[in-house]
Amino acid sequence: MRKKIVAGNWKMNKDFYQTQSLIKDLIKHKMPEGVTVMVSPPLTNLQAACKLVKDSNSNIIIAAQNMYYKGEGAYTGEVSMSMLKSIGVDHVILGHSERRSIFKEPRHLIEDKVAAAVNNEMTAIFCFGESLSSRKIGNEFRVVRNQLKEGVFRLFGSAWDRIILAYEPVWAIGTGETATPDQVQKMHFYIRKQVAKRYSQKIADNVSILYGGSVKPNNAKEIFNQPDVDGGLIGGAALNANDFMAIVNAF
Ligand code: PEP
Repeated sequence: MRKKIVAGNWKMNKDFYQTQSLIKDLIKHKMPEGVTVMVSPPLTNLQAACKLVKDSNSNIIIAAQNMYYKGEGAYTGEVSMSMLKSIGVDHVILGHSERRSIFKEPRHLIEDKVAAAVNNEMTAIFCFGESLSSRKIGNEFRVVRNQLKEGVFRLFGSAWDRIILAYEPVWAIGTGETATPDQVQKMHFYIRKQVAKRYSQKIADNVSILYGGSVKPNNAKEIFNQPDVDGGLIGGAALNANDFMAIVNAF
């Protein structure tokens, strides 16, 4: 059975002290049964976040926002999977549109990262989604199909229990503009169909597909109610414990 997941992507927000304070606030809340809650603080704060979660027996998962696919070596500024795993992090967000557009991460690099992550027993939250110009000309399904092909469709079927898909239309990220529940459902249904076509109905039924793009406490319920939506990847609203928990409780 696929999991219901709410994941917070903190991006480049919250310093060391602010991270601890927000994690402590989250830990105080009772998490709903059957919802996996994940947060992704900046790299410098992952270890402190992991420790807080572990010490309080919380089941919040701490995820990284990035990693490199090589084991070790001369890769200035990068962090490896074993480094993350050594502090208790085994989930990582990959392919986020900000990595693609601002940091010019090419498709093959994202594919290498996803493959390395799942082959090293990490779970990859693979992000993808069309730009506004693609949607305007009715190209959104083709763009998404290509991103899936280039990012995750060369993986073995056995790797798919370590893949979480996050559909994030670029035009809805950080803009306050949310895709309508109907637009989200149509795309998620399409994504699941592509996975079934490439692999099997069983894999498609088991993969969690999250929606990301201006999810807030006031729109989360309607989006999460869609049959092919298994949760959300939350940016701005993940930076405040009450807002984030309202979204976590929106199922
Ligand atoms: C994101 O960055 O993944 C995201 C969905 O951001 P926001 O919720 O702020 O649109």
